[in-house]
Amino acid sequence: MRVAVLGSTGSIGTSTLDVIAASAGRFEPWLLAARRSVATLLDQAHRFRPAWVVVGDPRAAADVGAGALPAGTRLAVGPEALDELVADPAVDRVVSAIVGAAGLRSTWAALEAGKTVALANKETLVTAGPLVTRLASRTGGAIVPVDSEHSAIHQALAAGAPDEVARLVLTASGGPFRGRPRESLATVTPEEALRHPTWSMGPKITIDSATMMNKALELVEARWLFGVPADKLAVLIHPQSIVHSLVEFIDGSVVAQLSPPDMRLPIQYALSYPRRIPGPARRLDFAQAFTLEFEPPDLDRFPALRLGHEAAGRGGTAGCVLNAANEEAVGRFLGGSLRFTDIADVCARVLDAHPFQADPGLDDVLRLDAWAREEVRAWN
Ligand code: NAD
Ligand code: MG
Repeated sequence: MRVAVLGSTGSIGTSTLDVIAASAGRFEPWLLAARRSVATLLDQAHRFRPAWVVVGDPRAAADVGAGALPAGTRLAVGPEALDELVADPAVDRVVSAIVGAAGLRSTWAALEAGKTVALANKETLVTAGPLVTRLASRTGGAIVPVDSEHSAIHQALAAGAPDEVARLVLTASGGPFRGRPRESLATVTPEEALRHPTWSMGPKITIDSATMMNKALELVEARWLFGVPADKLAVLIHPQSIVHSLVEFIDGSVVAQLSPPDMRLPIQYALSYPRRIPGPARRLDFAQAFTLEFEPPDLDRFPALRLGHEAAGRGGTAGCVLNAANEEAVGRFLGGSLRFTDIADVCARVLDAHPFQADPGLDDVLRLDAWAREEVRAWN
């Protein structure tokens, strides 16, 4: 199976290449794309010999010297080239692992071409959920989630029929500040927020885990991915990150998916689906005693979660505005011009102030994305 790996130099991208390397030729990378990590991309190209490497940023592409690529690998530059290549008939599956709203357009291009997308880029569904799901049903494109919670739900849903589902319960580790009082969170530094207790991930999603905005975005993601109303979505704190999510059925049975926190498993599931195959992901060791804990989330300490329930409930443009405001706010927090607790505050204000549309087009979504970013940049 020929795979296009978008965002191959990132955390999900490199784990995807681990899965591919361990697959004994079952998966083969046809295209590797990144924004500007040219040195890493060239290393990957020599190791995996894809047909194409795509560099998103034209200035970075200038660093690819003549003869830097292995024989048989070609270079393409910029987002238009990427859109065209993901739609190529040679591509069997697309791993969408670009970070942020920037991942929307290539995911869109893949679905438009009727591809099956292993979707890590949650921002695609958060920003344009109603449009993306409509597109997929029109073209026959499909989305298999990579996000561990949604992968778990996808797996657990196999235990019943859609009309037998009572609730989808997303687990959350609670991040590094789970036990901390709200007052002490205002002075949190980027270094502290970047230290996640259970998962090793890229910087943006690590900050989102600390604010719990990650779970907020995942509520919106789940709404579109599984087509369930927001009142059937719940969040449960589970510090060990072993139970990746649960489905409660109408008879009261709860079905969960368990495994150590290792993204290689949901990535591989999304590549091999509908089959399962052996792979490199860590396994639970039942010879060792271990404990699983659960507790309800504290919405006062983590107001971002409330925003997630709100955005999932409202649908329309709410997810797009929440996501864009948050991306910009996280950038300002990492740059030192916003306090940790301001992230959720500024997102709440921008979400409240935005001209809500229930059934937006793609142009409305892109315009509101830009508007929300501008609002956060101007906020002080
Ligand atoms: P990362 O920051 O580690 O990597 C991002 C990748 O995207 C890099 O390869 C970068 O070059 C590429 N990229 C960024 N902008 C680009 C552009 N404009 N054009 C082309 N390439 C571009 O991020 P990550 O942690 O791997 O996360 C990727 C996505 O997966 C995010 O949407 C995140 O929310 C989601 N996700 C990640 C994890 C995880 O464990 N890391 C878990 C669930 C979901
Ligand atoms: Mg997740």
